[in-house]
Amino acid sequence: MLPTQHAIAGIPGTLLFGLLVFFAVLAFVYSVSRRIRLLLALSPEWRFDRIGARIGKTLEYAFAQKRMFRDLYAGTFHIFLFTGFLVLTVRTFALVVEGLVPGFLLLPGRAGDSYTLVKDIFEVLVLIGVAMAVARRAFARPKRLDLTLDAWVILFLIALLISADLVSEGARVALHPGAASAWAPAVLVLSGLFAGLAAATLQAVYETCWWIHLVDILFFGNYLPYSKHFHILTAIPNIFFMKLDPMGRLGTPDLENSEHFGVSRVEHLSWKSALDGYTCTECGRCREVCPTALTNKPLDPKVFIGQLRDAVYEATPQVLAAATGRGNGSASAFAEASADGSAIAPPGAKAERKELVGGWLSEDAIWACTTCGFCTSACPVFIIPAVDKIIEMRRHLVLEKTEFPKEMQTAFRGMETNGNPWGISAASRADWAKDLPVVTMADAREAPIEVLFWVGCAGSYEDRAKRVSRSLVEILNAAGVSFAILGTEETCNGDSARRMGNEYLFQILARQNIETLNGYGVKKVVTNCPHCFNCIKNEYAPLGGNYEVMHGSELVSLLIAEGRIRMETPITQTISFHDPCYLGRYNGVYDAPRRILESIPGLRLQELPRSRERGLCCGAGGGRMWMEEKLGTRINQARMKEIAQAGTDAVGVSCPFCMVMIGNARDEIGASTVPFDVLELARRAMKQESC
Ligand code: SF4
Ligand code: SF4
Repeated sequence: MLPTQHAIAGIPGTLLFGLLVFFAVLAFVYSVSRRIRLLLALSPEWRFDRIGARIGKTLEYAFAQKRMFRDLYAGTFHIFLFTGFLVLTVRTFALVVEGLVPGFLLLPGRAGDSYTLVKDIFEVLVLIGVAMAVARRAFARPKRLDLTLDAWVILFLIALLISADLVSEGARVALHPGAASAWAPAVLVLSGLFAGLAAATLQAVYETCWWIHLVDILFFGNYLPYSKHFHILTAIPNIFFMKLDPMGRLGTPDLENSEHFGVSRVEHLSWKSALDGYTCTECGRCREVCPTALTNKPLDPKVFIGQLRDAVYEATPQVLAAATGRGNGSASAFAEASADGSAIAPPGAKAERKELVGGWLSEDAIWACTTCGFCTSACPVFIIPAVDKIIEMRRHLVLEKTEFPKEMQTAFRGMETNGNPWGISAASRADWAKDLPVVTMADAREAPIEVLFWVGCAGSYEDRAKRVSRSLVEILNAAGVSFAILGTEETCNGDSARRMGNEYLFQILARQNIETLNGYGVKKVVTNCPHCFNCIKNEYAPLGGNYEVMHGSELVSLLIAEGRIRMETPITQTISFHDPCYLGRYNGVYDAPRRILESIPGLRLQELPRSRERGLCCGAGGGRMWMEEKLGTRINQARMKEIAQAGTDAVGVSCPFCMVMIGNARDEIGASTVPFDVLELARRAMKQESC
């Protein structure tokens, strides 16, 4: 019998194999088409823009796996597995053809020596990759990974797949030495080991391993859509369809024409959110960095995205049935299903299912997020595990159910009535500047104004932040910058309202501010609050507000670089710098505050272990500034402990909320490190007579 003829128990091998492939492909197409049909049935979201940028990102992050190498060990074995998967796809097709057309692989020049070599090398690399993954799970499992049967099954299937192919090839070459290729060193080594075996044994080894390999592939393909390793198929599209808008820009819903506010059910999710769920690799990189997971709160982004995926899977029969009803013109079927989730369940589907919000995902978890964005920037497959999804769920809780932590009501009322979350009189918004040479836009109508100083609520009302506002005014005046403030015409930018789920209030505040800014023809804005900075820079544009926005640290570092102010008074201290999430991670401003600190004579900057892209949140973002922190340990204290351990005299901050959180934590834990805003230090270091 020729080694390429696969006869089993009298059934012609080709027929058996053909039937096997046919049913396996049929099952695969069925499973995957259900997953795709579900995406098509969910809320639309346009992700086919900026195709060139999408292709570039896909090459960078899917094929070159750039983010994976932040963990060198995991990056190394993943690149072995990923590239091996790509290389062996060709081999898989060749083997399937061989099964259907026996002798195909023996035809001369079929694969080519170079492919044979590449395949051989990558099969060995995949086995090394599997061994590395197994060793890590068995002996040095990081906390971010959970031990799951699914992972072991997948690793076993991959190892079996590769081993069976190598052994079958080794047996084939031992049986037919003329078929040996010097371009397949691993196969040659194996064939050497088999050299003394009888021809019948070699034939049996070859055929058995050939079948094991092929059956493994067919099983693997059908297991994937039900496994966390579905990401093998979805990671590339998920990266291609990544969010390209600024990270700090949330979606702006049309509130006038919305049938529901936010997300409470699977049916409300966008298809991209469901694709995120399909794609989670459960690597836990998001868990490792999340301040709420680190402080034992009921939000773990890895668990969150896993629960979202489970909810999507559970809802699939009903959503598909409803979509089919719609397709058949039965609009009421979908309406019914959307309303109570129990309608038109197909036979076998559960009639009842849990709500997404309050069922799969607890409200405590939804309110815990600080929107620091660390999970998003950590995810190797560009899932947004929490922020955008959580804000949508908060919108549902606030706008539809009016269910939210009661202390938020005070902040909402303050913003509604006085334009600031403290609820202090709007008329006193500019009192901090009464004794300073500051003009308002209204006063300066005729004068040329270079830049608008957006003071923000904290900069206007909070004692420490008011001192920073004064520092910036003195610096701008010393540098001869013509600027003005809005004074009592300024109102809260709306960031906190939006991130606490009150999209109505956000849009009211934002539109009011945009009208004021556009009315004065403002082009350039400087602000020292990263939340105002992100919001005006990134979130006003969809509502008609387009401005060049600088953070105070960016403008001041520029003034220093241009020699318009000089740092001449020494401050002899060591200092670290705490990166505000909405300045650094969201907007990439890392260097400007550091440049200021480094320009001050006597001041020695010492980086924190977690800094820049890896900086830990202070706990105030996402509206958490206005909520009590009752669960787990306190995030600001966790951060302050890290800062204190660095042993510097001071810590620099560039955000009024960070200043409050770090300052409170310092008092609470009795740390000696003193927080300063970098602009306060710049003001102190300026030549005194220049002020
Ligand atoms: S945004 Fe920050 S707090 Fe929220 S889940 Fe992600 S890492 Fe955790
Ligand atoms: S969301 Fe991303 S980072 Fe988090 S576990 Fe899933 S793949 Fe890993």
